[in-house]
Amino acid sequence: MIKENLREVRANIERALLNRAPNIPQADVKLVAVTKNHPVEIMQQAIDLGVTDIGENRIQEALDKFSTLERNVVKHLIGHLQTNKVKPTVKNFDLIHSVDSQRLALALDRAAGSVNKIQDILIQVNAAREETKSGVDPDELDQLLETVDQCGNLKLRGLMMIAPNFDDVEQCRPLFNQMYKTFKRQRELRPTIEILSMGMTHDYKIAIEEGANMIRVGTAIFGQRDYRWEEK
Ligand SMILES: *Cc1c(COP(=O)(O)O)cnc(C)c1O
Repeated sequence: MIKENLREVRANIERALLNRAPNIPQADVKLVAVTKNHPVEIMQQAIDLGVTDIGENRIQEALDKFSTLERNVVKHLIGHLQTNKVKPTVKNFDLIHSVDSQRLALALDRAAGSVNKIQDILIQVNAAREETKSGVDPDELDQLLETVDQCGNLKLRGLMMIAPNFDDVEQCRPLFNQMYKTFKRQRELRPTIEILSMGMTHDYKIAIEEGANMIRVGTAIFGQRDYRWEEK
């Protein structure tokens, strides 16, 4: 099941790349397989099927699974992060997608410094300015970028966004397109920027067409999340 789903997602990635506008250079798309609410065995199975990157959204759930994981994998934190959890986060995650405030950036910088790590991060942008969503307001992005520039223990690798859950998925397209333009502009200013993380199960094809080079896909690979992880 996972095997067939992965094959289909990978085929869709290739097809979406072919549909890209000519002004967006072709590039590989990194697939982050989102295993939140699925047990560690599923994570292991995905890795055995060639998945190189795993996404989790809750620190405690992720650490619980990582502690018994018998495989090497690149670990992505894709969910909202609270400043009181920065220490275990920098110790355990390779890329943090959800940096969205100066306070969090500074706390991560300190935590990374305390364990002698240069932490790779993405800045999450609330592209649709949704009240209930995490992410920095697009108008405050420059200010946050300037703060991160000053953080010697953080390496800014790119930008991340979550599109609203529109009934008509085509409504995501202009937001993705706008985000790609922001990404392109910032990449010219800051050479460490290379990742644009956008696209989930319902909208990843459109995100790739509009320039995403990293997608975060759960349901299309692992099915509905009915498993409930319980804090022990
Ligand atoms: C859960 C989650 C995903 C994956 O969502 P699916 O719709 O299952 O593909 C991607 N990104 C973030 C930030 C998530 O929390």
